[in-house]
Amino acid sequence: VAPAGAGSEAPAPPVCVLVLGMAGSGKTTLVQRLTAHLHSQNSPPYVINLDPAVHELPFPANIDIRDTVKYKEVMKQYGLGPNGGIVTSLNLFATRFDQVMKFIEKRQNTSQYVLIDTPGQIEVFTWSASGTIITEALASTFPSVVVYVMDTSRSTSPITFMSNMLYACSILYKTKLPFILAMNKTDIIDHSFAVEWMQDFEIFQDALNQETTYVSNLTRSMSLVLDEFYSSLKVVGVSAVLGTGLDEFFVKVSEAVDEYEREY
Ligand code: GDP
Ligand code: MG
Repeated sequence: VAPAGAGSEAPAPPVCVLVLGMAGSGKTTLVQRLTAHLHSQNSPPYVINLDPAVHELPFPANIDIRDTVKYKEVMKQYGLGPNGGIVTSLNLFATRFDQVMKFIEKRQNTSQYVLIDTPGQIEVFTWSASGTIITEALASTFPSVVVYVMDTSRSTSPITFMSNMLYACSILYKTKLPFILAMNKTDIIDHSFAVEWMQDFEIFQDALNQETTYVSNLTRSMSLVLDEFYSSLKVVGVSAVLGTGLDEFFVKVSEAVDEYEREY
């Protein structure tokens, strides 16, 4: 006897995982690693590359912005520099994003996750109309989470760490989507120092006490303000290079989606 409901339930829609972060934080490497991980679990994701300027993509993308817009051509045609070329390419692509949505919808019974890699420079996506259009199109149709990738090895100074957290916080405000902080490159340095800083502001203040600049005074105040942000933040340490922390990563993704759906 088949278990009740077997085969009759509609499959859950795929979860869109939007990977954001500073240039060099490891977005592309993480998407590659997540893709490999999901393949090994017999759950191949649908993968989208939104970086028009990437030279070599280390993962097979189902949809690649470079197939639609040639960013070097866009630069020439519109007389733009590299940054303008990237922004304009993303704008051109966004005007056709309804087609991408149709492709994702077609695949929704076969892929549990849609992974989205974004341009190297974060502001191209987070502070552009096209980034907003793409994010809203995805999030209004599918459960979606934002993954903010942080280069842990470059956040060991309390001031750099704080500026990274402020950036993360501003993205949370801008997207208003479930949010996960992926502390990457834990093969170089364990992320426990950063978790301590978030859990106990006195430890963070102690680390800051070495500094006596204006910025450190400001940072001291900001750490109190960010307490609220930290307390509800989902944090996971990963190494995109080694592939560690990925099971926990997917647990956080599910938790974030579940909480969001309960609230809205
Ligand atoms: P993106 O600009 O955010 O897409 O960053 P990339 O994925 O291109 O990575 C930037 C650099 O960081 C590359 O040299 C990667 O090999 C390196 N990198 C990415 N993830 C890790 C990691 O987990 N550990 C280490 N040690 N290096 C990493
Ligand atoms: Mg990249």
